[in-house]
Amino acid sequence: MRETQGQLVKRLDYQPSAYLIDSVDLTFDLDPAKTRVLNRMRMRRNPEVAAQPLRLDGEDLNLARVLVNGEGTSFKMEHGQLVLEKLPEGSDPFELEIFTTCNPAKNSTLSGLYVSQDTFFTQCEAEGFRRITYFLDRPDIMASYSVTLRAERAAYPVLLSNGNLVEQGVLDDGRHFARWVDPHRKPSYLFALVAGRLVCREQRIKSRMGGEHLLQVYVRAGDLDKTEHAMQSLMHSIAWDEARFGLSLDLERFMIVATSDFNMGAMENKGLNIFNTKYVLANPATATDVDFANVESVVAHEYFHNWTGNRVTCRDWFQLSLKEGLTVFRDQEFSQDLAGSDSARAVKRIEDVRLLRNVQFAEDPGPMAHPVRPDSYLEINNFYTVTVYEKGAEVVRMMQTLVGRDGFARGMKLYFERHDGQAVTCDDFAQAMADANPGSPLSEHLETFKRWYSQAGTPALKVTSQHDAANRRYTLTVRQFCAPTPGQSDKLPFLIPIQLGLLSASGQALSASQLLVLSEAEQSFTFEGIDEPPVPSLLRGFSAPVTLHYPYTRAELLTLLAHDSDPFNRWEAGQRLCLEVAVRALQGQQTPTLSEELRQSSEKRQMLLGHKSQGTWFRIVISNYYRDKSLVDDLTGTGYCKYESRLVLRSTEIQPLFYDLLKNKCTQCDA
Ligand SMILES: [Zn+2]
Repeated sequence: MRETQGQLVKRLDYQPSAYLIDSVDLTFDLDPAKTRVLNRMRMRRNPEVAAQPLRLDGEDLNLARVLVNGEGTSFKMEHGQLVLEKLPEGSDPFELEIFTTCNPAKNSTLSGLYVSQDTFFTQCEAEGFRRITYFLDRPDIMASYSVTLRAERAAYPVLLSNGNLVEQGVLDDGRHFARWVDPHRKPSYLFALVAGRLVCREQRIKSRMGGEHLLQVYVRAGDLDKTEHAMQSLMHSIAWDEARFGLSLDLERFMIVATSDFNMGAMENKGLNIFNTKYVLANPATATDVDFANVESVVAHEYFHNWTGNRVTCRDWFQLSLKEGLTVFRDQEFSQDLAGSDSARAVKRIEDVRLLRNVQFAEDPGPMAHPVRPDSYLEINNFYTVTVYEKGAEVVRMMQTLVGRDGFARGMKLYFERHDGQAVTCDDFAQAMADANPGSPLSEHLETFKRWYSQAGTPALKVTSQHDAANRRYTLTVRQFCAPTPGQSDKLPFLIPIQLGLLSASGQALSASQLLVLSEAEQSFTFEGIDEPPVPSLLRGFSAPVTLHYPYTRAELLTLLAHDSDPFNRWEAGQRLCLEVAVRALQGQQTPTLSEELRQSSEKRQMLLGHKSQGTWFRIVISNYYRDKSLVDDLTGTGYCKYESRLVLRSTEIQPLFYDLLKNKCTQCDA
């Protein structure tokens, strides 16, 4: 049943389905070696598509029976699909009943229904549901699901599926059942069931909007004491989504299940999220700060999918970034909002940018470079990439930068007003953002902006400056360039938001932060009333996923490091200085190193360390830079928030690189 492998799927070949599924009623008789699945669907022809046979996807299934409106019908198998040609004409709904069996114990793909440590689990994204029953296994088929699970009571005391538990009871011969109804229509990739011997931590909450909900975290016996942080993270996520975007939990019950054999990391099945244990279990005795932060961010990410992904889903898998880019952006914003202080928010932003630069930027010059919305694939599972996720999140962040935080909230509101319950495209999201913000740079340049979805590669910005003292005028000229990537030799200009600040040489802000919008290959921006050559603070907050080339002098970088009001660019200036020192050392240059220069000047050192605007984390980086152990101890003794303490670890992780470079390559540079 693998004939479809190796077939190139193209985005532009998308066709709506010739059939629609209104409702699905599934009955499972769970047995590890032979699970029986009865699938009763209420279907109808799609009036907008020409009449044609029904083709249902299926993989590794044993087909026992097919009935149409309760009667036998002819069918054939073609390219691994079940093909039905003699279906009722006209637009009336009909009932299709399919009875199959499968072998979850032998399913080692971890896709579809499988058994792990005597527990049944499912994983259906992207195309696993077809391993459970024959179906129109594509995300734009959204249907209402009801599910009955039957199993031996002693071996599988807990029976879970999506939605609300409406009935449960005992059957003959030691078996029992549970019936679940999901009140929301969903695509098949969000279907889930779990059956086994599990225990749970429970919490009842009343949401800000008055809804009452039961939250549950299911684990194996013995792990219950490691679930408190996951539960707290879930409660924070629910509260945050209501407060920031007005999005409430839409189910009576929300469940998280942890398993050690789940290789997707975590999955946002409607109301029944399934996680690898490493993203759920954490207790203070064994977990590090980073583990705690990861649990919080992954729990939040999967919860946020309840709206961005589940309520509004993807029309086809080329639109994967519609749900992933947006949801990564949302979990990043959540972590920042929870961090509180500007300094701590910046640390989170710095971490996100480091990941993007280290992993996604590295993907762009290679053979795997692809746009955020790919144009074709052989296997969709290969497209769960940092480009679709992390760069996709940067694309959403640029939209927020272009329309502002309030404008972004308006765009989200319009997106849900227009598309709740639908399967849509990245274009639909961008359109809603632009339409909710008429007159914004996003709405003005929407078509140019959308090149971020279609063009691969990391754009490079080359910036030069000119100061005209006589006319008190300062000009920045920005050129953009993007190297060819596979299948895309020439690129059109990207729309690049550049957050800019101008500082005097002594560090005073010459203007408030402003947004420059680059839409051409080359553009100049002029600033009047500037008496002396300023120091530009470019791309504040890393306002676009690009590389920046500006000929900063060491003095300018020190000014930014000490005085920039943007914490990201303070850190960035420090990085550039460190890099410069490292490169000099590698080149064996005999010029004084930065730290020698600073060590000799107590005034400069004081300026950097004592500046009021510096967060604690920043001072730690600087003191590490001096290798002043006493200063580090001094600072670490004061109260930190968790993000700041994480940076202590992080900075000690970075520093050895420079120590080694300096020690090995240029021994005279530093002691
Ligand atoms: Zn996701």
